[in-house]
Amino acid sequence: MTNIKANQDRLLSERPVTELKGVGASLAAKLTKLGLYTLQDCLFHLPARYQDRTRVTPLGSLQPLQDVVVEGRVRGCDIVFGKRRSMLCVIDDDTGRLSLRFYHFSNAQKQRLTEGTKIRCFGETRRGSTGLEMYHPEYQLLDEQNESLEESLTPVYPATEGITQPRLRNLIQQSLALLSDQNLPELLDESLRQHVNQVSLLDALRFLHAPPSDAPLSQLLEGEHPYQQRLAFEELLAHHLTLLQARAEVQQHRAPELLYHSDVIHHFRSTLPFTLTNAQQRVFEEINADICSSKPMLRLVQGDVGSGKTLVAALSALQAVSNGYQAAIMAPTEILAEQHRINFSLWFEALNISVCALTGRQKVAEKRASLEAIANGQAQIVIGTHALIQDDVVFNNLGIMVIDEQHRFGVQQRLALRQKGRDGLFPHQLIMTATPIPRTLAMSAYADLDCSVIDELPPGRTPVETVVISQQRRDQVVARVDQACQEGRQAYWVCTLIEESEVLEAQAAEASAVALQAALPNLRVGLIHGRIKGPEKEAVMTQFKQGELDLLVATTVIEVGVDVPNASLMIIENPERLGLAQLHQLRGRVGRGTAVSHCVLLYSAPLSQTAKSRLQVMRESSDGFLIAERDLEIRGPGEVLGTRQTGELQFKVADLQRDAHLLDDIHAAAALIQHQPQAQLISQRWLGRNARYASV
Ligand code: ADP
Ligand code: MG
Repeated sequence: MTNIKANQDRLLSERPVTELKGVGASLAAKLTKLGLYTLQDCLFHLPARYQDRTRVTPLGSLQPLQDVVVEGRVRGCDIVFGKRRSMLCVIDDDTGRLSLRFYHFSNAQKQRLTEGTKIRCFGETRRGSTGLEMYHPEYQLLDEQNESLEESLTPVYPATEGITQPRLRNLIQQSLALLSDQNLPELLDESLRQHVNQVSLLDALRFLHAPPSDAPLSQLLEGEHPYQQRLAFEELLAHHLTLLQARAEVQQHRAPELLYHSDVIHHFRSTLPFTLTNAQQRVFEEINADICSSKPMLRLVQGDVGSGKTLVAALSALQAVSNGYQAAIMAPTEILAEQHRINFSLWFEALNISVCALTGRQKVAEKRASLEAIANGQAQIVIGTHALIQDDVVFNNLGIMVIDEQHRFGVQQRLALRQKGRDGLFPHQLIMTATPIPRTLAMSAYADLDCSVIDELPPGRTPVETVVISQQRRDQVVARVDQACQEGRQAYWVCTLIEESEVLEAQAAEASAVALQAALPNLRVGLIHGRIKGPEKEAVMTQFKQGELDLLVATTVIEVGVDVPNASLMIIENPERLGLAQLHQLRGRVGRGTAVSHCVLLYSAPLSQTAKSRLQVMRESSDGFLIAERDLEIRGPGEVLGTRQTGELQFKVADLQRDAHLLDDIHAAAALIQHQPQAQLISQRWLGRNARYASV
């Protein structure tokens, strides 16, 4: 007796699916594809939709495309020879008639469907050649001992190859039967549950897996039912707590105190050809307030393209150097790292500060020299790509780490850099995003970071005028490029491809460059893409920067950060293949000088609805924050953050867009309970297998 009791109380999160009847190793393996390892996982696997099998719909009131139960008497059953041979069984009731169509059938099946037989079917109605039809309905013949109808709505679960709906329903029903307060404890106490109408976890799960026949179906489909919201609340709370825990863990460490040396900073600022914008000034002050303390800074700087984030990074790096510490800047591409290296060298070598590069493409000897300078401290500012987070990179005394264009890096990489301090000191961390992040996303994905916004562009910028033009008018566009370049301006021609293949993309860009050069014999045309070797690529970029090229044909490698103020025209071929954030980034390459800039979105018809709305947004707005909000609406959070592949920020129940209204409550709740034991349990429950998210 006690044994059974003890077993009942074992946590469902610790009981593998193989404890269920009918689950052996091979089914268990399939279940892992759905993320189902434990009985708790099964219970959190919620229906994607529901079928109503609780009542019979009269044949006379059927509409097309309904999932319904019907009953009637067989009026005839024949084999018909249309395009494909099929069996057609006509049934009727007092109100109307319906045809059941089977493409796969047996003789025995046909024989049992004799005239007058009573039958019950479940299936989807559709328009067929005989009027309303059901293809391959589930059916049963009715006699005296009829099975009764379902009492609750029938769940339809997200499934995968080799696992049928009845199978999943069965496993989840078994799990539900075992469910108790002991083996899946309630983790939201009464005060937390006030945010969710006091709905308990068990009530929510029991309801959602078997809603009563009168449950509001459309609300359930939208995920807006209070019971779904109850679960979404707990899940979002779990994510938020996890990030807060990660932050708390980092902040237990000490960081070097980087004090403000006004003489150094002032001197540097006096060497610049411009003054800081108010926004740059304000954000630098916010950073200052962080880094002069011994708590590691964790700060996100958001600023639209061209808002001058690099300079803010430079000031922060200078602060580290003036305190005797090293600064590291990590950029997502070689080109961008190179551009930073050039800028930083210009700015700092006059001040006798050494700037050193570390990238994956360096020659062995060069790289060895860099590594040595980084290790012995001779390199004061280190600029690089992902190469910076390799194990062989040892800093002498890293004081601050700047990660540029963060959305290209995963949380993992962000964390890897935290390890690079010395003597148990953690470097301060400054993260700069290329794309403004919608507030809801920032609140959820970067809850471990403080946030600053550079919400002002340097003076003298003129907005980019954007037009959307079909490929059919390509000749006019080419003529326009010709004219602009003849007038002394420079232009980008960006080629995009659907496939993520560097080779194909490079080939397409090469072909375009050849064709454009042929069409524009008077222009100096350059080409740049991911397959061109580092030094050659730099040479082309330098030529373009110095005005020795009129037209630069490029793949999306120029997307990030590249800065050529005289370039005032950009053509983007097949922009419909890119997301909004990427288009905005690309377009940000022009409009950096004082001339009016233009961007031509040269699309191929026909456009999908999504593509149309994207291009529309681009034409109407140049505000990165607004564009990011629209991007989130169109694409969803995983893609906006670039985390789709890595599975971060994938929710079981919650949907950031839909559940954004919960976030304020969640933040308040998280702040209240983050130091209580239940906080651990909540994040464990929802992120157990994904805890790497938080591991520091
Ligand atoms: P992003 O925020 O996109 O990284 P950058 O840092 O590349 O922008 O800056 C874009 C351009 O604006 C650069 O040419 C930079 O020199 C210039 N810039 C930065 N700050 C100012 C300023 N305060 N006044 C004028 N120009 C500035
Ligand atoms: Mg930048």
